[in-house]
Amino acid sequence: MLSWDDYHKQESAPSGAGAGKLQGVALAIDLEPDLVPAPAAANAVGASRIAPTAVADNIARARESIEILDIAPGLEELEMGAARVSVDEKAMINCRADLNQLVPFKYDWAWQKYIDGCANHWMPQEINMTADVATWRSKDGLSDDERRIVMRNLGYFSTADSLVANNLVLAIYRLITNPECRQYILRQAFEEAIHTHAYQYCIESLGMDEGEVFNMYREVPSVAKKAAWSISHTHALSDPTFKTGTAETDQTLLRNLIGFYAVTEGIFFYCGFTQILSMGRRNKMTGVAEQFQYILRDESMHLNFGIDV
Ligand code: FE
Repeated sequence: MLSWDDYHKQESAPSGAGAGKLQGVALAIDLEPDLVPAPAAANAVGASRIAPTAVADNIARARESIEILDIAPGLEELEMGAARVSVDEKAMINCRADLNQLVPFKYDWAWQKYIDGCANHWMPQEINMTADVATWRSKDGLSDDERRIVMRNLGYFSTADSLVANNLVLAIYRLITNPECRQYILRQAFEEAIHTHAYQYCIESLGMDEGEVFNMYREVPSVAKKAAWSISHTHALSDPTFKTGTAETDQTLLRNLIGFYAVTEGIFFYCGFTQILSMGRRNKMTGVAEQFQYILRDESMHLNFGIDV
């Protein structure tokens, strides 16, 4: 068992495993080109084929990338005693104000959406799936086409909401420089996690082949095409050195927002919602339909937020 003495020892010991790793990173960066070991003879087993000049070039390029690396807005050093943040400085993008300050609000609508999103909180396990399990297991419960609709929708959505979440936290969050909008984006990111949870809950409740359903975005061409189209918009912004501030890069961000909020969440998702909700109206798969109804309520707010941004 770990005692408090061990705890203090570990904290103060600089030679721990973690510390070693960090030192290793620093060493790799500090390597001088002329200290790079020359490759072994070409005919030696496992010999490196990289020429010393190429290694030196790579190190020089790595150094250059680190030098121009943009610090994400919000991670800058704190300006002690700086002038207080005014509303006018709180821009949607390319903001000059300290992003850690939520107030004074510039975009009240964004704060209101955060409050509304929290008031809509729900969890997938609150919905009773008993009738759906009976319908899904019954030979005559659904036609082949209806089964296909349920499978395809759960297949598409089980990964699509993860794509939206990844886009939010890995691409958009860093570039939206208004604190109250970031607050809503954080709420939305959690909602995307709940949606992915809801699809997993449906898939598990119905006893579907999880491998088949979760891999549709890589194995079923129509699902794969939609996923690939959405991911391409995240890739455009995923370079850590990408920053807005020019007409071209501002347009790339706008293209991403339209690609995700208007097309992915507004068109791709709504096509699936209508199919599942129409089944619920005919008293079939009512549990899945209820899950989708809650998801739709969240999605309509995501769509509104994206349009307002
Ligand atoms: Fe969403």
